[in-house]
Amino acid sequence: MHVPTDIEIASQVKKKPIKDIAALIGLQEEEWEPYGKYKAKINLSVLDRYKEQPDGNLILVTSINPTPAGEGKSTVTVGLGQAMNQLGHRTVVALREPSLGPTMGLKGGASGGGYAQVVPMEDINLHFTGDIHAITAANNALAAFIDNHIYQGNECHIDVRRIVWKRVMDLNDRALRNVVVGLGGIKQGVPREDGFNITVASEIMAIFCLASDLADMRRRLSRIVVGYQTDETPVTVADLGVEGALTLLLKEAIMPNLVQTLENTPAIIHGGPFANIAHGCNSLLATKMASKLGDYVVTEAGFGADLGAEKFLNIKARMGELDPKAVVIVATVRALKMHGGAEKANLKEENLVALREGIKNLKKHMETIEAFGLPFVIALNRFVHDTDEEINFVQSWCKEQGVEVSLTEVWEKGGNGGLDLAEKAVQTIQNKQAKFMPLYELEETIENKINRIAQQVYGANGVHFTPQAKEQIKQMEANGWANLPICMAKTQYSLSDDPKRLGRPETFDITVRELRPSIGAGFLVALTGDVLTMPGLPKEPAALKMDVNENGDAVGLF
Ligand code: ADP
Repeated sequence: MHVPTDIEIASQVKKKPIKDIAALIGLQEEEWEPYGKYKAKINLSVLDRYKEQPDGNLILVTSINPTPAGEGKSTVTVGLGQAMNQLGHRTVVALREPSLGPTMGLKGGASGGGYAQVVPMEDINLHFTGDIHAITAANNALAAFIDNHIYQGNECHIDVRRIVWKRVMDLNDRALRNVVVGLGGIKQGVPREDGFNITVASEIMAIFCLASDLADMRRRLSRIVVGYQTDETPVTVADLGVEGALTLLLKEAIMPNLVQTLENTPAIIHGGPFANIAHGCNSLLATKMASKLGDYVVTEAGFGADLGAEKFLNIKARMGELDPKAVVIVATVRALKMHGGAEKANLKEENLVALREGIKNLKKHMETIEAFGLPFVIALNRFVHDTDEEINFVQSWCKEQGVEVSLTEVWEKGGNGGLDLAEKAVQTIQNKQAKFMPLYELEETIENKINRIAQQVYGANGVHFTPQAKEQIKQMEANGWANLPICMAKTQYSLSDDPKRLGRPETFDITVRELRPSIGAGFLVALTGDVLTMPGLPKEPAALKMDVNENGDAVGLF
């Protein structure tokens, strides 16, 4: 039997004109701008109009530590939104914008899958409304301003060996990780080592996603540290005087994008920062807007609950004064088996022994969400190879633990496959009082904050700081940055900082080897292990399957 691909499903479904979706969520004529037939940008004035109205109920979708293929957070987010609407709850989905690098590389689509997708998926996965390109332009404009500043006399005394601002591109291109710029003689600038990051790793992307309005974005842009003088004094965008120009480049992009799901559920897709050196959630403006326009908002955060949800709650929700009401933890039989020791090649075979062991990973994430004061539902995202025994095992285990679980089949059945999850999510919100609390106070020391995350969220014994990290912490304290939240950069595959330690590792320490300031975004990045900010392409990139047919339609886009 031919299983239709995502793009085949997406292209067969009848989309509503975007004006109908805008009308559905009560947008007035002047509050949105069409961007073709099926996309629109929403004006920030909507937030003013709804200022006094209470926010809708915010549901965060997260997951256990994933396999490299992903466990279906985006798919469940979209499917849950569809199911909620089927039950008559006015629900808006809020998602990240996919980055071109992973799309061309390995990851596949980032707009859901099967019968739980956002459309037009081909636009969303390619250039969409150009937001990411605008961020690339702003980032690289700043790089050009820095090099020009040095060429023109370097009034700010930037030490060319201490420039931390890199150029970016929204592609996976390992050859650009380290480059030398300014070669060619006196007229070509000052030679120096530079490098490229992928655009979604740009601090401007993180700023874009945490800004509460245009003025706040401008303030944050002005605080970006681009480099240091020889005595370590930071040099910022404000010193260069270009925050106005950068804001100007982003003034259209800052408006959230409205699209729809396969079942015409309104979806706001906006911003998509890396989930390691940044916080990995769609823009705060998109989440806020969705919570004004819907009675319920379903949103997601990248990677597992140890990274995405932790940062959503400790960074984004705190900064944006969001009040999440419930969490959905996505788990899959295949990933649980992998956590229990099953080999990657054998994940399609029944293995109750591995499942029993691997479910400890889920247990840890449940404890984490509880520690944040939030009620949750487990969504068991069903794959065709899961056996009845395996599904029964997970369901009975949840029953024993006294927690709600829902067998979720939205990939195969769309909203219909998520009705039970939707009912359980609504009941959870109605019956269980959420008492959201971040896990640390901003006033605690940098070391303490990192320790708390490592111990409470990862289950580590403690944290080892390298001499370099200790030095950087002192420097950050001296610069007055100690009161910022922490953005942990850690492998997504393990609760520890070793990607090979699956399941629920015990007795381990985390090693923090470096700290990087993201002062514009408003957090300090703590790096454990190696974190790539410019990914490479795999041996057989997804791009090899892509093409355009005789009608001009995309082919092979998953
Ligand atoms: P995440 O957001 O956790 O990274 P996605 O929702 O993007 O995961 O899903 C990863 C991939 O797995 C996508 O290609 C999606 O279509 C596919 N997928 C998700 N759920 C299922 C399922 N139940 N059965 C088969 N494929 C699925």
